[in-house]
Amino acid sequence: MTNAQPRPPLLTDLTSSQVADAVRGRTVVWPIGAIEQHGPHLPLSVDLILAEGFATEIARELDAYTLPAQAVGARSLPQSGGGLYFPGTVYVAGDTLVRFLRETLTALAALPMARLVVVNGHYENEPFLFEALDQVREQGLFDGTEVFAFSWWSLARDTWTDAEIPAFPGWHAEHAGVTETSLMLHLRPDLVTDERPDHDNPPRAGVYLHPVDVEQTTHRGVLSSTSGSSAHLGEKLLRHVVDEATALVRDGSGLLFAQSSPDRRPGRRPDPRTADRSEGTTQ
Ligand SMILES: [Zn+2]
Repeated sequence: MTNAQPRPPLLTDLTSSQVADAVRGRTVVWPIGAIEQHGPHLPLSVDLILAEGFATEIARELDAYTLPAQAVGARSLPQSGGGLYFPGTVYVAGDTLVRFLRETLTALAALPMARLVVVNGHYENEPFLFEALDQVREQGLFDGTEVFAFSWWSLARDTWTDAEIPAFPGWHAEHAGVTETSLMLHLRPDLVTDERPDHDNPPRAGVYLHPVDVEQTTHRGVLSSTSGSSAHLGEKLLRHVVDEATALVRDGSGLLFAQSSPDRRPGRRPDPRTADRSEGTTQ
């Protein structure tokens, strides 16, 4: 059982005089979450707990340090998080989040780590996280550091969801649905109640609506189905995503959409500064 293994080391347990030597040439993993309603059966901390859960396992595989998870994220939207009509969601505005992440990443980039891996657990964080990372990159602060940032569900293969989840509604509608419920049943069953609300008509992604009727877009904050959730399914999903993430970081092999590439060479990753030139003539 993975839970019996010791936690990967926390960067913040080091002293100031230790930290530079400790992380030189190493990988640092930072989980980013949110405090957001997740229906009547899950706690407000789901996105935080799941980002931490994935980050912990990824760090273990990569012999990496972890950072304490970032708890406050972007606002909740009706078509992907249920929206702000439910009590308990704590958020900052997008421009505040970009600035916060940019300044935090700027401070982190001063450390001589080889790799930074940011694991996002909240759907609405993603564009602000990528924007902040790109602003730091534009300043040249990541010149000696490889950066990987992804929302954990982005690394789940369509083949996996097709095989494991009947009538998969799309990741935007998985809010408080079968995948998050299953992952919580695996990682923190003590925080999951017995209710399993289903919502038969998940909202479409990428549509802004005003006014919004949350009684129609959600069932008590759940956007899709929770029936069929299990700790076993959660464990399988965790393992699948961790395998994809470690392959991506180790040799870039998880980057391609195809299930596997015939010229995949474990242990080798093209230099990002020369990859475009060697790949072909389309630029
Ligand atoms: Zn969530």
